[in-house]
Amino acid sequence: MTTQNEMHPQRWGDPAAASALPESARGLIELVFGIDEKPSAQGAVPPEPVIGADGVAALAAVVGDEHVLLDDATRALRTRGKSTPDLLRARAGDLGDAPDVVVRPADQGEIERLLAVAVAHNLAVVPFGGGTSVTGGLVAARAAYDGVVSLDLVRMKALVSVDRESMTATLEPGLRGPEAEALLSEHGLTLGHYPQSFQYASIGGFAATRSSGQSSAGYGRFDALVVGLSVVTPSGTISAGSAPASAAGPDLRQVFLGSEGTLGVITSVTVRVRELPAVKEYVGWRWPSFDAGAAAMRTLAQAGLLPTVIRLSDEAETAINLADPSAIGQDNPGCLMITGFEGAPSAVAARRRAVSALLIELGGVDLGEEPGEKWAHGRFDAPYLRDSLLDVGVLVETLETATFWSNRARLYADVKAALETSLGEGSIVLCHISHVYETGCSLYFTIAAKEQDDPLAQWSVAKAAASDAMIAAGATITHHHAVGTDHKPWFAQEIGPVGVQVLRAIKSSLDPAGVLNPGVLV
Ligand SMILES: Cc1cc2nc3c(=O)[nH]c(=O)nc-3n(C[C@H](O)[C@H](O)[C@H](O)COP(=O)(O)OP(=O)(O)OC[C@H]3O[C@@H](n4cnc5c(N)ncnc54)[C@H](O)[C@@H]3O)c2cc1C
Repeated sequence: MTTQNEMHPQRWGDPAAASALPESARGLIELVFGIDEKPSAQGAVPPEPVIGADGVAALAAVVGDEHVLLDDATRALRTRGKSTPDLLRARAGDLGDAPDVVVRPADQGEIERLLAVAVAHNLAVVPFGGGTSVTGGLVAARAAYDGVVSLDLVRMKALVSVDRESMTATLEPGLRGPEAEALLSEHGLTLGHYPQSFQYASIGGFAATRSSGQSSAGYGRFDALVVGLSVVTPSGTISAGSAPASAAGPDLRQVFLGSEGTLGVITSVTVRVRELPAVKEYVGWRWPSFDAGAAAMRTLAQAGLLPTVIRLSDEAETAINLADPSAIGQDNPGCLMITGFEGAPSAVAARRRAVSALLIELGGVDLGEEPGEKWAHGRFDAPYLRDSLLDVGVLVETLETATFWSNRARLYADVKAALETSLGEGSIVLCHISHVYETGCSLYFTIAAKEQDDPLAQWSVAKAAASDAMIAAGATITHHHAVGTDHKPWFAQEIGPVGVQVLRAIKSSLDPAGVLNPGVLV
């Protein structure tokens, strides 16, 4: 049994929504990488479930038989996430990480009882929101367990309450991005959280991974939007966050934000909301260089003048992404910056005026709304393009990091060099600044290379080299994709042995049997 809004098990999203690779793009790909058609394996089935009948019966006693699913199709749809390695494995017909059973609770009470069953029957539990993890966050280390349960939150999709006076809303974790926005819009409200995975990722997943959206400069990162949350742990249920600000000890919300299903199941999230914007305007800017554009972003952030959206492509990304390079100057396309302004008409007009004046003063060239609208129109399309490129034997993947402004140039150079060296001649490494703060920014890299015989090994070498470079440069291993299993060794280096000890101590207090997402995070 599947549910509405399922993604294709071997591709991103709904392939019917993807447009075919234009002939001109195909020609370019043929020229640069060569075309090597890669058909996906058909008819693969997950391994037989290993969970015992008594465990299944105990799970069914909590949620009802119809919400305990052992069929191959459902388990295939709950296997791993949507990183390029995940897609490559699925395309090769490898469903080896499939859960043994998918369980769909209706509410917090059922989750409390399900976790008790998991402990009693030694079952690993993997909370599943939208399934868009790109860091191996949905793969449990199964060796020590008598089965793996995918705890699918698809039935928990309510807008629980709206407090218009305080401008907060409480949402259930299984709501996907568009579903949450649709419910809030009935009240004239928005969350404003638009990661590229918006169409499929869930509220619980945003909180569990500390997601950051394309409009986070204006609305804030997801963790900054959360004013409270409820979490079910094997040791009991906890609600954190009871005031807009508090000096009551350490902030326990921060224990669960980014906990990636390892400490508890997030069952509701109370978020700050905003009025639906009446106006959305997106404007392109040209900068002579990445350094010049980055300096302008820093000036804006430090002047307290950030737009709702701000992003800057480096020279290579600008050249590749511009279908019409003449739009920003044929000889020197420079670097494209997108700024977006959302809100009430007068506020948008005032901020756009102030930002434009500063950017012109700093040497930016206003390209008008066309490049901005083009970006806004295609902002969720890139994952479909990745599928088209994988189809013809081009390895494509992304990674991201963040650092302080004073370290930005070094981090950019080091990670780019690590990727170029490990991927070898003919590879393409692109970068943009995806998020901006007063003190620093995030760097988001995209790579493309001709697929070798073993693309998983090819990417794993490059990813390790880039991750080593991030840690050596003193940056974070992830600004918004989270840790999962993929970033674990570098995360341990980033937080150090005492940091790991703290997280392990919290884990053993909340989940003494270790049933929650084993192998993820720490
Ligand atoms: C094409 C693409 C683009 C992306 N773009 C962005 C982006 O712009 N910004 C960004 O931040 N991320 C992005 N991501 C990464 C991903 O979408 C985010 O990490 C997202 O927040 C995950 O949400 P999800 O609901 O899909 O979680 P899932 O993939 O289902 O789960 C992610 C992790 O959270 C845990 N989890 C999920 N729900 C709960 C819950 N209720 N309680 C406890 N643990 C839970 C899972 O066990 C898992 O470890 C992108 C991914 C893809 C594939």
